[in-house]
Amino acid sequence: MWNITVEDALARVTAGITPLPAVPVALPEAAGRVLAEDVTSTIDLPPFANSAMDGYAVVAADIIAATVDAPVRLTVVERIAAGHTPTGSVTHGHAMRIMTGAPIPPGADAVVKFEDTTTPAAAAIDILVPVALGGNIRQPGEDIVAGQVALRAGTVLRPAALGLLAALGRATVPCVRRPRVAIIATGDEITAPGAPLPAGGIYDSNSTMLAALVRQYGGKLCCIATARDEAAAHQAALAQALATQPDLILTSGGVAQGDFDLVKDILQSAGALDFWQVRMRPGKPLAFGHVSGVPLLGLAGNPVAAFVGATLFARAVLLALHGRDPQPALHEAVCGVAIRNGSGRRNFLRGAATLEGARLVARPSAGQLPTQLAPLAHGNCLIVAHEDRTHYDAGAIIPIILLNDAL
Ligand code: AMP
Ligand code: MG
Repeated sequence: MWNITVEDALARVTAGITPLPAVPVALPEAAGRVLAEDVTSTIDLPPFANSAMDGYAVVAADIIAATVDAPVRLTVVERIAAGHTPTGSVTHGHAMRIMTGAPIPPGADAVVKFEDTTTPAAAAIDILVPVALGGNIRQPGEDIVAGQVALRAGTVLRPAALGLLAALGRATVPCVRRPRVAIIATGDEITAPGAPLPAGGIYDSNSTMLAALVRQYGGKLCCIATARDEAAAHQAALAQALATQPDLILTSGGVAQGDFDLVKDILQSAGALDFWQVRMRPGKPLAFGHVSGVPLLGLAGNPVAAFVGATLFARAVLLALHGRDPQPALHEAVCGVAIRNGSGRRNFLRGAATLEGARLVARPSAGQLPTQLAPLAHGNCLIVAHEDRTHYDAGAIIPIILLNDAL
């Protein structure tokens, strides 16, 4: 298969992927990870009836007629702090001074906040307004009841979800094992950042960029290797990568039609090539197949092409391995300027989207060559011009992919 659509390529890349197994993860380390199983609460939340205010626990019927001019005077019998249990109970004509979060004493059925009281004497309180039955009381289970599913499998554990798990008393949770990813950068010219640049050399930007992208989508690096443009070097790097038991291998470079582009050949001889070339721009040279059962994405060498290919396809594999929807997260934007696409391919223009009023307005950046990383680094989106459409007027709706997308 070659020169296939982005949709075909996405379907092929994610076909047959099943979510990775669950591993127990300590709550503080679970941030950003994906819940592997439903979490059912074993407790009510809140666990007991407690005060929503600093005030006085009362019998609501006692203060029905309270007004500022004719307050109802109650005798204060006890003071309850959060974390402590009352020793007595509240009976008619009595009240307990109570702090936010403290348990409601037996007999009380409402709380009057301090602001609605005045203090005439040490052990007395004047109530200035009535409070409804149950007023200012947080009922047990009003957030979650015992036996209820609090979070579903597949939920990304963002801060609020982690807070909820902690509130339920969970110290560990089952998370999807992080996908292991091996990265192989190919090319005689690539040089590690930090090393002196030899004649004809360029710094390897793809390895660092792809590694960061892998982390952005919840993956974990198990191998970073480089290979010169020789079959033996490619085979050695592949063996090195496979030894680290990856769930996905990403290569960059060596996948076009040049004399030294060996990735397709290696895929064909060492494994199985599924497709080569996608009707997209940049990143048309893109190979996909399997080696020893491990999916391998052969990304283009040009950094912007490698980035776009990884944003679509490495992301899709990583999300599918997490049990999440691998389709690109498209948002609707308005073209800030007219956009042309004469390429006959899905064109992922590097751009910037800004919120103008209630609308997201997207504008392509100056500098759309697949080698120009700076406009990509300065922008915040890819603007997706369809292969069947040559022109979008200013003001037309166009889909975009936001680059701050995550798992
Ligand atoms: P290739 O597909 O191997 O012919 O590479 C296409 C272009 O991408 C060439 O200009 C390469 O020098 C460049 N390139 C390949 N790999 C990398 C890399 N890891 N970092 C930066 N540029 C690269
Ligand atoms: Mg090359």
